[in-house]
Amino acid sequence: MNVPSEMISFNKSYYHSKMVELISNILVTGNTGGNGIYTKQCQSFMEEYYKFSKVLLTPNCTQALELVSILIDIKPGDEVIVPSYTFVSTANAFVMRGAKIILVDSLPDHPNMDHTLLSSLITSKTKAIVPVHYAGVACDMISIMELVKFYQNEKHQTIYVIEDAAQAIDSYYSGRPLGSWGHFGCISFHATKNISSGEGGALVINDISFIKRAEIIREKGTNRVDFLCGRVSKYNWIDIGSSYLPSDITAACLLPQFEKLAEIKSVRKEQWDRYYSGLLSLSIKNKLIELPSNTQNVIDSNYHIFYIVCKNVGQRDDLIEYLKSHYIQVNRHYVSLHLSDYYNDNYDNINKSQYPNADKYNDLLIRLPLYYDFIYVDWVIYLIYKFFDIQPDFHFPNLVLN
Ligand SMILES: *Cc1c(COP(=O)(O)O)cnc(C)c1O
Repeated sequence: MNVPSEMISFNKSYYHSKMVELISNILVTGNTGGNGIYTKQCQSFMEEYYKFSKVLLTPNCTQALELVSILIDIKPGDEVIVPSYTFVSTANAFVMRGAKIILVDSLPDHPNMDHTLLSSLITSKTKAIVPVHYAGVACDMISIMELVKFYQNEKHQTIYVIEDAAQAIDSYYSGRPLGSWGHFGCISFHATKNISSGEGGALVINDISFIKRAEIIREKGTNRVDFLCGRVSKYNWIDIGSSYLPSDITAACLLPQFEKLAEIKSVRKEQWDRYYSGLLSLSIKNKLIELPSNTQNVIDSNYHIFYIVCKNVGQRDDLIEYLKSHYIQVNRHYVSLHLSDYYNDNYDNINKSQYPNADKYNDLLIRLPLYYDFIYVDWVIYLIYKFFDIQPDFHFPNLVLN
């Protein structure tokens, strides 16, 4: 393998020629609207393959979260617990309906929320908890579901669990797919995710009592679904809602990718494992960086992200620059919500020292490129050793250095 001589993109969406075929079918037939044949096939696929009770495709994951926020009647004053280290949509969907966001720190050894802190944050106003499965790696869903069950049984307080499974299509926890654990799961098919329609998403409804109203909210607050099934002769406005229905073009793009999920995951796993074993001695022996621990939750995941955690901000910036100068783009990830401008402008008495682990990931985490077509994993490993001026104790037989 030759080394790159121009900038390699950090991410590239998966492509298969069948996607073009189905998209052109839709364009030729002219049935481009929502709820068409491919939308229904995508939903059925996910319901059968993952045994989800109900799946509704949405234009993106952000809007799946917004739909849930309407569905569970979030009102001003309600409290919703979200990790500080996450994407803004996790919080915004609930803030838009008037909720107060309660932030929770990450685990010391993973960006996911520290579930052991949750019980100290729950009050009588707590309406929902939103676990984010960072990198497609599961939060401790057994503890989280036991906690809300305790509140239901002992205090008659319903606390909804909404999994932000944006990064977690085809990830599992304890043998069950992510998105199926909470009352709801929200999945993303954004350009950066394992399978993608550029913009795209899905709402998984596990509490079936919510299905009917979810369909109404998705159809602008009308009973259009009843009308399409012939149950009413005209549809009209019956609830609040918005347009949370994607075009069938989006579904045509997605459908062929579902058949490739296993292959996509195995290619990503190979890259992830290669990064991990290649960089391990820099972490264990030289103590120069921290790697994600290769836990059972990683092994059961969809290998969405490979990240390293640097030792300090100077090292982080120098490494990013060094890799860039050798045509490898690497990126930091979230600005923790407790450090964001919006949070600081809108929330009083913020104690910023409560989130030491989120601070660590905010400051020191960098993501290495990992995607179906990426062929430079060895080159990235080689460069990181070179950056630290350490001689690796293995060879790079496939690397042609010029
Ligand atoms: C990508 C992502 C989202 C947003 O998904 P969209 O489909 O772009 O709306 C939300 N939460 C997390 C954790 C994400 O990674």
